[in-house]
Amino acid sequence: MPTSSASRASPPTPPTAPAASDKGGLRVSKRVSGLKPSATVAVTNRAKELVKQGVDVLSFAAGEPDFDTPVAIKRAAIDALMAGQTKYMPTMGDVETRRVIAEKVTRENRIPGVTPEHVGISAGGKHALYTICQCLLDFPERNARAPEVILPVPAWVSYAPLAELAGGKIVEVQTSPESDFKATAEQIAAAITPESRMLILNSPSNPCGTMYTEAELRAIAKVVEEAAAKTAPGLVVLSDEIYEKITYGGVPHFSIGSVPEIAERVITLNGLSKAYAMTGWRAGYTTTSGAWGLEFMKSMTTLQGQMTTNITSFVFPAIRTALKECEADAQRMCAAFGRRAELIHRRMTRMPGLKCPQPTGAFYVFPDVAAHYGKRSAGGKPVECALDFCEALLAENRVAAVPGEDFGGRGVRHVRFSFACSEEHIAKGMDRLGEFLAGLR
Ligand code: PMP
Ligand code: GLU
Repeated sequence: MPTSSASRASPPTPPTAPAASDKGGLRVSKRVSGLKPSATVAVTNRAKELVKQGVDVLSFAAGEPDFDTPVAIKRAAIDALMAGQTKYMPTMGDVETRRVIAEKVTRENRIPGVTPEHVGISAGGKHALYTICQCLLDFPERNARAPEVILPVPAWVSYAPLAELAGGKIVEVQTSPESDFKATAEQIAAAITPESRMLILNSPSNPCGTMYTEAELRAIAKVVEEAAAKTAPGLVVLSDEIYEKITYGGVPHFSIGSVPEIAERVITLNGLSKAYAMTGWRAGYTTTSGAWGLEFMKSMTTLQGQMTTNITSFVFPAIRTALKECEADAQRMCAAFGRRAELIHRRMTRMPGLKCPQPTGAFYVFPDVAAHYGKRSAGGKPVECALDFCEALLAENRVAAVPGEDFGGRGVRHVRFSFACSEEHIAKGMDRLGEFLAGLR
């Protein structure tokens, strides 16, 4: 049975609305003052700051690999820099790099109809996501309904704010640990309306660590195809595949854009941050397909051309090197994430009251900790929600993790632990988590 989908609060009002507060005439826009800060970034920065101050914090906050960028990638950037590749370049990237990406998605992801012109390179996947939302969504005309963005939740913290910033209205599809946090095709079908403009999928998932199978994605593709023909002609799938190379649970990654019947209405988001340990480089890319994909990429080019132009010029050769020469590095890191996934999941599921599916991809576990709500920590702090749980865990046992509230849906019951850290770090952190739980009364 499809479970209910819920709409969130309405998106911010259009930019022409008067600002909420006007202190002496100086103000920031209502649009941005109403924007939620990223919880993942906030907790990560706080933990890093404490570590820098010498506090013995074990952080499970950061969604970034602890590995260094492979040397060959660094060398490519250094060589380009020294050779003088320091000028403006084409907005969406030079044709050589775009060709390497087009060939990669054609070969590895089996997405049809992708030429270099269907590829756009942005300053990280997050910048690409912002640009995609701005190019796809609109604030509604007076008396019209807002474009709807279907989002299976819990989901990464940036999707809803960036979609709402562009005028979209989030329609949540509820998922749970029992279904590995995956939405079914029936649930998606039930959430589609004539206003549906975007369906966001993220497999492997941040924060859930689980993955859709090929069969599940094909069933969703069928629903999208049928809806596009009948109820929702403007529906587009945004498939965020940034964790595609971090899979260790036996579920092969599958790109929904490879289903020919809907390929033209799938926008695939990817980037080098996770697979090649390049978070600080800010290299993300979008691929589209077919005639409409080309139109869409032109609109992204126009917006990015006004915003940032190209990413750092000497990063382009580094992207080519990563994609062409560093598969073994990606596999080595993935194998380490697989060992860590097993360790952290084994430790967690032995602890009283923690429940979560075994991660099969990405580097997150997302246990349900709500069995402990209503208790007090050893230090006397009430634990009523994920935020309380994380605050007390950090203050009393010096473990940083991200509270689940901002991931939406039943996130308030969950806490995200990133295991992009050593096995020793995990073992120590789980000892501390165990002590914290033992102290709850
Ligand atoms: N998508 C997901 C699901 C993520 O977790 C992240 C992490 N930041 C991104 C996109 C964007 O990453 P980046 O901007 O570093 O490419
Ligand atoms: N995506 C990573 C995370 O979820 C990095 C921080 C962010 O961009 O949200 O932690």
